[in-house]
Amino acid sequence: MKGTMLYGPRDVRFEERPDPKILEPTDAILRISAACVCGSDLWPYRGVDPITEPTPMGHEYVGIVEEVGSEVKNIKPGQFVVGSFWASDNTCPICQAGYQSRCVDARPIGAEGAQAGWLRVPLADGTLVPTPELPPDDLIPSLLSASDVLGTGWFGAVAAATGPGKTVAVVGDGAVGLCAVLAAKQMGAERIIAMSRHEGRQTLALEFGATDIVTERGDEGVAKIKELTDGLGAHSVVEAVGTEESMMQAIQSTRPGGHVGFVGVFHGMHLDAMDLFWSTVHLHGGPAPVRQYLPELIDLIWNRKINPGKVFDLTLPLEQVAEGYRAMDERRAIKALLRP
Ligand SMILES: [Zn+2]
Repeated sequence: MKGTMLYGPRDVRFEERPDPKILEPTDAILRISAACVCGSDLWPYRGVDPITEPTPMGHEYVGIVEEVGSEVKNIKPGQFVVGSFWASDNTCPICQAGYQSRCVDARPIGAEGAQAGWLRVPLADGTLVPTPELPPDDLIPSLLSASDVLGTGWFGAVAAATGPGKTVAVVGDGAVGLCAVLAAKQMGAERIIAMSRHEGRQTLALEFGATDIVTERGDEGVAKIKELTDGLGAHSVVEAVGTEESMMQAIQSTRPGGHVGFVGVFHGMHLDAMDLFWSTVHLHGGPAPVRQYLPELIDLIWNRKINPGKVFDLTLPLEQVAEGYRAMDERRAIKALLRP
């Protein structure tokens, strides 16, 4: 098969790779229907996370089960499935508590490389969720979004304790931030403030349920959120970037007693302990336990209650994956969908 490898900064190659095989009896092999480029793939792509050897890329995927190992009970060949970017057994105490991304046996899908024609998924029964039947083509982008960005934005909104009557602010206008807006809307938030200075992303945020747009950043952004909330700050703030500036913007935009859900992967972060002490906010975040939300998200998508697939504003044949990285790196695209 052919798959995507990163050789170094801005050096993405689509090349011949070994066909994935069943290695453990709990594995499944998928024929990939769609994959995509993640904002987090841009960290190694830009050289911020150094690459020491050619590395398979991609951790978001939907596809059709081709083959399963001898111990796989629930997932069957022929099913269309959505999986999270962490494989999990879904049975250990951590999974049972809803934190499948930190399963005692968690395995990163990124190590397999989902930007490829085929994919081995470990712990198939615990990781994959089938759709009711083969989906119509127009639902595939939304189902793919559930694999990461929707599930991650959803967790951000849950971690920020979004709910009816709440004022929610979202820091970050990438696909995850936009999906957090959608999630806050679904969870009944009264007011949703999207922080974005990019016109196309503002339009999508409004479509997903944002009631206000704030274009200012840093201290000015915080001042604007306070101005919109009687000087108090938002009840719930989702941080979906991962820089020190965005995290401080999130913490300082939250009212005392409020909640910050942080889902951006931290880079170059040095938080001041006294800033945290005086913030008096709840902090909850990390790698999203997407598996927990997949049944609910698939149901919402299947019944066309939400359309998160709109975050994909570029679709490319998989062999043009390098252009997908370039378009996202240059912020010409919010998110690139790849079809084998
Ligand atoms: Zn587990």
